[in-house]
Amino acid sequence: MSARVGVRVRVPAKVNVQLSVGAARPDGFHDLANIFLAVGLHDEVTVTPADELRVTCEGPDADQVPLDRTNLAARAALALAARHGIDPRVHIHIAKDIPVAGGMAGGSADGAGALLACDVLWQLNSSQRELLDICAELGSDVPFSLLGGAALGVGRGEQLTPLDVGGTFHWVFAVADGGLSTPAVFREFDRLAEAEGAGLHAPVADPALLAALRKGDVAALSSTLSNDLQRAALSLRPSLADTLAAGTAAGAVAALVSGSGPTTAFLTEDQETATQVAKALTASGTCRTARVAQSPAAGATVV
Ligand code: ATP
Repeated sequence: MSARVGVRVRVPAKVNVQLSVGAARPDGFHDLANIFLAVGLHDEVTVTPADELRVTCEGPDADQVPLDRTNLAARAALALAARHGIDPRVHIHIAKDIPVAGGMAGGSADGAGALLACDVLWQLNSSQRELLDICAELGSDVPFSLLGGAALGVGRGEQLTPLDVGGTFHWVFAVADGGLSTPAVFREFDRLAEAEGAGLHAPVADPALLAALRKGDVAALSSTLSNDLQRAALSLRPSLADTLAAGTAAGAVAALVSGSGPTTAFLTEDQETATQVAKALTASGTCRTARVAQSPAAGATVV
């Protein structure tokens, strides 16, 4: 089939500017208050008619991406096809630029991207609500990848309320060698909480952080960033403390672990400082590579 009949979708990575974790629920998930911000690092997902469902992937981390039906992009195509009684004969190609297993929702991005691409390819015209419902079945972070911008996620993170962002934020992301498993980080969070015997707070969005986003106020955002999973990620990967220190020493106004890590995120005052911090982080030898990106970024978009 000609590539011209394919549909290509661009999907952003995310950083959690607040990740507030409550107690584990009977279903094993944790109640969260999660403030997502989409950042301008993207995967591109292209779907093309084919004889059978097939997934291919290119990019620096491509060898870590499963190409079978466990790939979130394949699962998205299968879920949409099942709802509409369609045979999902598509080739899904992922051009991967989002670090794999980095706490930046790369797999979720591919799920949302494939879902939108298949919806367009099969001319289903699903509403955003219908697509968001399928996204929530695929994973807690998938609805946000579709939506982009900024949003508060509650429940296990999948119940979203879009948020206003009044300016551009400049970030540096330090990509670590190897990934961290999100379930393993949550298990470590539970272990640390139990060992301390401290009661867990009910997760709520920080009003000061919401106001900082609304105003586009970098200084206010820098003093309100928080990630309850950071301690667990550092406990599993103590060397991340060196990366956080290197970025702060280089001029970042704030540093935190992105989601479940091991990617670390650095907020900077402007683009120029971001470039300097990225250079210093790369030179520090405390990460594999450092990437500059801005937020907010648009959600899944057909290109
Ligand atoms: P999150 O931030 O949502 O917790 P993450 O960014 O830490 O996720 P992902 O890059 O989404 O992690 O990958 C987690 C695991 O999911 C990978 O190790 C891989 O086995 C699996 N996976 C399934 N589909 C994909 C995909 N399309 N891209 C990357 N990983 C995928």
